[in-house]
Amino acid sequence: MKQWIYIANWKMNVTPKMAIGWYANIDDIQNTIKDYQAYCIICPSFVCIPLLSHHISPDTICLGGQDCSIYASGAYTGEVDAYSLQQVGCHYCIVGHYERRSLFGETDADVTQKIQNLYAANIIPIVCIGTVQKELATIYTLLSHQLHFLSLVPAGASLYIAYEPVYAIGTNNIPLTPELKEIFDWLRRYVAHQAPTIQVYFIYGGSVHPNTIGELKSIPGIDGFLIGSASNSWVSLKKIIIG
Ligand code: PEP
Repeated sequence: MKQWIYIANWKMNVTPKMAIGWYANIDDIQNTIKDYQAYCIICPSFVCIPLLSHHISPDTICLGGQDCSIYASGAYTGEVDAYSLQQVGCHYCIVGHYERRSLFGETDADVTQKIQNLYAANIIPIVCIGTVQKELATIYTLLSHQLHFLSLVPAGASLYIAYEPVYAIGTNNIPLTPELKEIFDWLRRYVAHQAPTIQVYFIYGGSVHPNTIGELKSIPGIDGFLIGSASNSWVSLKKIIIG
């Protein structure tokens, strides 16, 4: 059985009270993850992370941040640094999500700095890339710009790359299977050429739901999924894992 990776991006949709509600399902969560050999990473809001890390062991579910500061420490009101994430139990952290890029002005240079801070804190980055454009040649040009950071990833490190076409985020509109197959083929070849010593996992994100997961799991080249809205409740995340 293939070990799929499921990354739940809870965004600002799951409050601490709602996160506590997840404990009620802990037996079912543990059994499902074991039965389906799933590898699950939950990325809650910063304030939920210590709460979850006290109750859920990394053997069952690993925790990740949704972002981190470009700064390592200091007088930066409101920021959360990579070392702090590591201290509260994060093994992973999303960076470069389209919402950070489009709503908060995050640049490729910021993403690169965050990736370096995460490796320094012993956290594996989950780097989101993706474009508004739909034409393949344009997609490849833009993705290769977003992947400039590859040359700075330490040799032998692990890295997650989440390809998220912008039009698929939160829309229920996934790309056609042949197109995704082609893009993941290109990504694998490009990354192997640019960074042959890195252990990379290739993730798809954008409208992953119980009704789209079957088709998505048939696409070679995809190791796992970054899931937004459908990851907020255990009921729908479970349907995705068993789907
Ligand atoms: C996302 O925002 O990363 C995402 C994949 O969202 P959704 O699953 O809701 O499309």
